[in-house]
Amino acid sequence: MASAPPDSSKSIFRFAPSPNGRLHLGHALSALTNEALARRFGGRLLLRIEDIDLTRCRSEFVAGIETDLEWLGIRFESGFRRQSQHFDDYAAALASLRERGLIYLCFCSRQEIRNAVVEREVATGQPWPVDPDGAPLYPGSCKGLASEEAAQRIAAGEAHVLRLDMAAALAATGQSLAYTVFDAEDARHVVQAAPARWGDFVLARKDVPTSYHLAVTVDDALQGVSHVVRGRDLEAATDVHVLLQHLLGLPTPLYHFHRLLLADDGQKLAKSRASQSLAALRGDGITAAEIRRQLGFA
Ligand code: GLU
Repeated sequence: MASAPPDSSKSIFRFAPSPNGRLHLGHALSALTNEALARRFGGRLLLRIEDIDLTRCRSEFVAGIETDLEWLGIRFESGFRRQSQHFDDYAAALASLRERGLIYLCFCSRQEIRNAVVEREVATGQPWPVDPDGAPLYPGSCKGLASEEAAQRIAAGEAHVLRLDMAAALAATGQSLAYTVFDAEDARHVVQAAPARWGDFVLARKDVPTSYHLAVTVDDALQGVSHVVRGRDLEAATDVHVLLQHLLGLPTPLYHFHRLLLADDGQKLAKSRASQSLAALRGDGITAAEIRRQLGFA
């Protein structure tokens, strides 16, 4: 028997991990918060695998994500979107931005960017601004590059990223941008977005034909996500997601940013820091019910 089509009137939530390691307690908190809010608002819950980084993401980690979420007892709608299978969608969004002159090619290495920043600091005697993640804003070295020179450098095999021309993007938007944050009681407040603080950020990487910012924005829209629930570490990035939504004519979902779990040293839990994985906790005999209780979801 064919299963019933999903109810399109319902709100849509998603949990969107990257399969570049095993899930840890921070992911469990994010997935459980999504589950709790989706249930509370009678919404659907999707799983999306954010695997654009083909060198770091591995199929065994996708399988691990499925095992861990099943073990936690979180029920997602069957089938999940895997970003690596949808590079065409990101290419279409890039083409649309490019046609409007909102993108430029950049050949700079990290070292070249650092050198350009130091030069400007020496010239102005002022510290160069950094983005909310602490990286220096791109100093614009490639912004005026002639298209013939860019074509020659590509022909010579030089790798490049694609950057959003922030000044042009803000001019094209022509209005201040905002988004709405909701809480568990569905109390809402409006937040002004300040995308300019990210400068000319990367839309397509040297090794990957998209970036996290572009892929997450396109996918949330294509999947009809109405409620984005994710950690506070991604709060500032929402500014550029809202900007991209405006530029691409996509709706802006509601947002909720949950607390972050900190490791004993006060740092954010991260796969790269070998934080204790759910698989390891399970191996130590800890039950899913204990994890739920520990994280406040009893
Ligand atoms: N894939 C991102 C991560 O694992 C989350 C993306 C999002 O929720 O917007 O951190």
